[in-house]
Amino acid sequence: MSENSQSRAATLAHLRGRKLERGEPVPLPLTMSATFHAPGDSTGFHQYGRFSNPTWDAVEELLTHLEDAPSVAFPSGMAAIAAVFFALLKSGDRILLPADGYHTTRILADRFLGKLGVELDVRSTATFLDGGFAGYRLVFVETPSNPTLDICDITAVAEAVHAAGAILVADNTTMTPYGQRPLDLGADIVVAADTKAPNGHSDALFGHVASRDADIITAIKDWRQTSGSIPSPFDAWLVHRGLETLEVRFDRMCSSAELIARRLKAHPAVKLVRFPGLEGDASHNLARAQMERFGFLVSIVLASEDQAEDFINGCTLMQAATSFGSVHTSAERRNKRGDAVPPGFVRIAIGCEPVEELWMAIKASLDKVSG
Ligand SMILES: *Cc1c(COP(=O)(O)O)cnc(C)c1O
Repeated sequence: MSENSQSRAATLAHLRGRKLERGEPVPLPLTMSATFHAPGDSTGFHQYGRFSNPTWDAVEELLTHLEDAPSVAFPSGMAAIAAVFFALLKSGDRILLPADGYHTTRILADRFLGKLGVELDVRSTATFLDGGFAGYRLVFVETPSNPTLDICDITAVAEAVHAAGAILVADNTTMTPYGQRPLDLGADIVVAADTKAPNGHSDALFGHVASRDADIITAIKDWRQTSGSIPSPFDAWLVHRGLETLEVRFDRMCSSAELIARRLKAHPAVKLVRFPGLEGDASHNLARAQMERFGFLVSIVLASEDQAEDFINGCTLMQAATSFGSVHTSAERRNKRGDAVPPGFVRIAIGCEPVEELWMAIKASLDKVSG
């Protein structure tokens, strides 16, 4: 991690403490409230739970600190993405999405924006620059793409998108602000599912939008308040707690992923490994240039669907589950979720288990299915 990320991580734990008055609790209190005492002139304080909430303020303060950009909290990653689409697009706009990114983003655009008159195109992440961006109002990248872990050059895409008069949105869910900084590379907006590593415990859904453009943030907040797409205070409290340990969990997960990806590559049962940190990987050079870490997702291909299922279900330290970024290592055969990958394709989300224990469990299960 860069020096900036390290200093951000160090300060994060003290943001609240620096403002405390004598006698106030050191940890964040949870404010479950739909209404607030509001006599007389109604400006400058909390009024109603759809407009604002002190627990949202606290989690947004941490997100704003991490992103180095004003950030708005949402009840899920998809709610954050929907806010960007519905607050910023209008009939007649054309948008470009990654063909190999999170599939629900494409479904949202196709099913709901299409009938409002927004045109949609898709393009593969690995060749995202090809074809240029003329005619688009909004371009959306997800890099590394999920689950194939292809990469596009955010700086080059941002330059070309801006030259074409469009705005660039980056879904930074897989990397978090500690692993990659799209706004610093030229993106106008970051969206992320804090359901994943930021919360980190598989017990809440959450999301956020971050941008350094004040007009964008105003439109996003207006959308949240008006549409009612608001996070629960309790989930905000959970994510606030998660963010306090994100750096240490993310560091462990990324370091373990580097070691395990290398060993998976050497295992005879594994036909293919995709991990941006592997020297031979198609994503490696660009990953070195634009990412601070290589992430904690490792994708592998085994010989068949059965082998892949047996590998996941037979591994004692692997949770069969969708999603990623939690303390427990999890894995899923992505073909069953509709991703265009072979039946034996498994996305492994490395967790926080001690790495040698984790590797022994992975190896034992691989040996068993292939032996
Ligand atoms: C999970 C995920 C989302 C959606 O987040 P939810 O909190 O499930 O709505 C969006 N983008 C990416 C890359 C994701 O992994």
